[in-house]
Amino acid sequence: PYIFKSVHHFVEKYNLTDAAFHRFLQEQLLITTQNTISDSPFLTAAMGLAYPSDTYYPVGGMYKPAELLFESFKASGGEVKFKKRVKAINKTKTGYSIRLENGEEFHVKNVISNIPIWNMVEMTDGKIKKYFEEKSKLFNFSWGAFTVNFGIESKEELDSLYYQIHTNEKIPHSDSNSFFVSFSHIDDRQRAPEGSRSVTISLHTNVKNWINLSTEEYNQKKEMTTSTILSHFDINFPQFKNSEKLHLLSGTPKTFQFYTGRSNGFVGGIPHSVSKNLLKMPSNISPFDGLYLVGDTVFPGQGTPAVVLGALNIVNEILN
Ligand SMILES: Cc1cc2nc3c(=O)[nH]c(=O)nc-3n(C[C@H](O)[C@H](O)[C@H](O)COP(=O)(O)OP(=O)(O)OC[C@H]3O[C@@H](n4cnc5c(N)ncnc54)[C@H](O)[C@@H]3O)c2cc1C
Repeated sequence: PYIFKSVHHFVEKYNLTDAAFHRFLQEQLLITTQNTISDSPFLTAAMGLAYPSDTYYPVGGMYKPAELLFESFKASGGEVKFKKRVKAINKTKTGYSIRLENGEEFHVKNVISNIPIWNMVEMTDGKIKKYFEEKSKLFNFSWGAFTVNFGIESKEELDSLYYQIHTNEKIPHSDSNSFFVSFSHIDDRQRAPEGSRSVTISLHTNVKNWINLSTEEYNQKKEMTTSTILSHFDINFPQFKNSEKLHLLSGTPKTFQFYTGRSNGFVGGIPHSVSKNLLKMPSNISPFDGLYLVGDTVFPGQGTPAVVLGALNIVNEILN
């Protein structure tokens, strides 16, 4: 039943009126369920609110766990082809044909697709295309991200490597009154040289903020969002105020779209929602023989743990 009741329902029921607590919930839910108090299901919100207390640090950065998976896959006889964009997935008499952008074609019995449902519409046809069109129509929204990355000199310990900074006003061209900051560990030599740390900042933005702009408008918006974030960073981390921000880079949904190929630059997956609840999400086992789906646009939704759980569902299904 907690999938069908919002956090708002319980906030009202237990008369949780404290403004600061309300604000805390709102911003924490945005980075965990990708939704707000009024539409976040209580079940996923409860998991989301408990989640930051159990955050581990991968030495070398977030690509390290992916690298371990890659090594393990290779050791089991798997082959990974990098920089090969899939253009079409079509049903054949014996399974599926996969056509790549460079013209290469593969014929396979089964497909496990990690490609977002919105992209699947463009690369399939017939009944399969219709299925992804219907799902994309229902789940037609996902957030975009604005990111800022840089290096700083840092010799002292920090209380935590992870912070959510709350701001009184919305950050320009975003949909957030907060941003998330992660620092590399002081001893992580793979992320930064001795005496330095790398800093990653991200926040939610509607992808519509970044489309149909001239280059000049785009650069102006990007500059304004970056400088506002950095001024809040300096206020909240005065110990780094005089440290030069090295290798400063900002990214918008356009950047994500360019590098990942994800439709519209939608990242972070489908928001958890009472109205479009978990049970309506595309299943990991598609209605089409031999076509399986993983990733943050299918059950059980967004975030690395959920994506892994979806993958385990498929492993169990195939092995059984
Ligand atoms: C700024 C930010 C911070 C986040 N923080 C957290 C966090 O703290 N904790 C957490 O759990 N989650 C976090 N997430 C969410 C998490 O990153 C995603 O939910 C997760 O990566 C989704 O995994 P995925 O495999 O579904 O998609 P992706 O990681 O996007 O992988 C999909 C892959 O498919 C590739 N692809 C797309 N189209 C094609 C094509 N046509 N041919 C071939 N390949 C293609 C893409 O290039 C990409 O490599 C964050 C996301 C963002 C953007």
